[in-house]
Amino acid sequence: MLDLKHQTAFVKQIMQAALDSFDGTPYQMSRKQKQHAFDVLVVKQPKTDGPNCSRAGRNAIRINLSYWQIKNVIHGKVWGAHKCFHDKQLDGHVYWNEYRSFDADPRCGGMFIKNGDVDHGNLIQVLHEVSHFIQKTLLHEDRGRWRHMRRPHGDGFRTLYSMLRDRFCNDPAVRAEFLEECNMLAMLSQLDDVQLCA
Ligand SMILES: [Zn+2]
Repeated sequence: MLDLKHQTAFVKQIMQAALDSFDGTPYQMSRKQKQHAFDVLVVKQPKTDGPNCSRAGRNAIRINLSYWQIKNVIHGKVWGAHKCFHDKQLDGHVYWNEYRSFDADPRCGGMFIKNGDVDHGNLIQVLHEVSHFIQKTLLHEDRGRWRHMRRPHGDGFRTLYSMLRDRFCNDPAVRAEFLEECNMLAMLSQLDDVQLCA
């Protein structure tokens, strides 16, 4: 089992960096919208099997640490993938697939994850869901201007998700440094909580 408290703080660090990375772009979230993202965030780790996808909209961001692809990363084995991904093999890795409609996209499609590298898997989950949150928030703000954001995994979503994947995830060195920083900041934020309680 992962430490839910630490993982929640870790997810928040990724989310903050992801939201802030759009500052100065047309996709920038206001302070209020960023705060709303944290207000609606739920990080959970159910012990039972069942429908366990992560998902997000304008009023919900749910990150599931027991997601089946995370379990595959932990166990170093691929269970439950669609047969069209069965040829995706690389020693010491599991293939993390995206939706079939864009899995082959070189910027935001599926990618190999080292066995046990749970942080990499959760990074993908969080960046994917933050993209949905921004997509739906923009659409709600102005349906005309942002009509290309309508389809759940359409062009608008892929643009946002590709930007996040390029910025934080696709390059192994950048990713390693970013994940280390998020883990450190997550640890520090928990120390602050303890001191405030004392
Ligand atoms: Zn999605």
